[in-house]
Amino acid sequence: MDFSRPKIIVSKCLEFDACRYDGQIINNKYIKKLKKYIDFKPICPEVEIGMGTPRDTIRIIENKEERLLFQPETGKDFSKKMNAFSVKYLKNIIDIDGFIVKADSPSCGLKSAKIYPKKNNCPAKKRDNGFFTGHILSMFPNYPIEEEKRLNNVFIREHFYTSIFTIADFRTVDNIDSLYKYHAKHKYLFMAYNQTLMRKMGNVAANKNQKNIDCIKKDYYDLLLLLLSKRARYPSNINTQMHVMGYFKKLLTSKEKKHFLDTIELYRNKKTPVSTVNSILVSWINRFDNNYLKNQSFFHPFPIDLLNNEESRFL
Ligand code: SF4
Repeated sequence: MDFSRPKIIVSKCLEFDACRYDGQIINNKYIKKLKKYIDFKPICPEVEIGMGTPRDTIRIIENKEERLLFQPETGKDFSKKMNAFSVKYLKNIIDIDGFIVKADSPSCGLKSAKIYPKKNNCPAKKRDNGFFTGHILSMFPNYPIEEEKRLNNVFIREHFYTSIFTIADFRTVDNIDSLYKYHAKHKYLFMAYNQTLMRKMGNVAANKNQKNIDCIKKDYYDLLLLLLSKRARYPSNINTQMHVMGYFKKLLTSKEKKHFLDTIELYRNKKTPVSTVNSILVSWINRFDNNYLKNQSFFHPFPIDLLNNEESRFL
């Protein structure tokens, strides 16, 4: 199966450059592996605003009136520079499928940057978004975004990979015919994510109001981002999997069915990812040569090489 290459903005210190405040680079095995399949666009907002490497640390200070990006060593405030850079940089971004940002950073953190109540030494009062990431969230609502640390969680990782490859695949849509094909190919995936939005997307594609293709694409794309903005819930994934199992019910032995139902229970109890259940379904789709199901992205939403050995053991 061919996959469109997602275009992803990534914090540059993750696998791309030794640009952290201490002159270090952060190794991350998932990002390293993704390089083969993704066009990364690395960016270090702190270097871009001229802070240099290595540099004194900065922190977010929040008081009643404002939020500052403050450097305690020098007493400098980088808020204005960082806000101006972020808006200018992100305004020029077109054609992007998602973001991977560095956890805990006052510039790049996603709900993980420490927020301090005062400029002088004191404990952090809460965590929130870094300055740069705050602008990503307001300018690219509903786009896939993750921190590198959260990719360690297989459930979060599979959802993120599914989202970025499905969104990248939308680049193949350039007319109504290709939109129908796209919708049909992802039907079971969309069903597992959100049936209400799937139907709305189907109505947009049906184009009863005779809109032009650019308007249709925009309406459909907004719904697609919304649909993928939340992980598919366990019951709806299981409903979809049971629905697919129905195709093979009469062709399977009782042992095979039991093994499948046992694996579903493991998934329901969060002991195994969705890909483990789907691997069993894929083996039946291939065995019974079901061409309709073979083309459904639900069973291979991203390149199989990106699954860990543990998750691909049934293939
Ligand atoms: S976290 Fe962001 S600002 Fe800090 S070094 Fe990495 S890319 Fe640069």
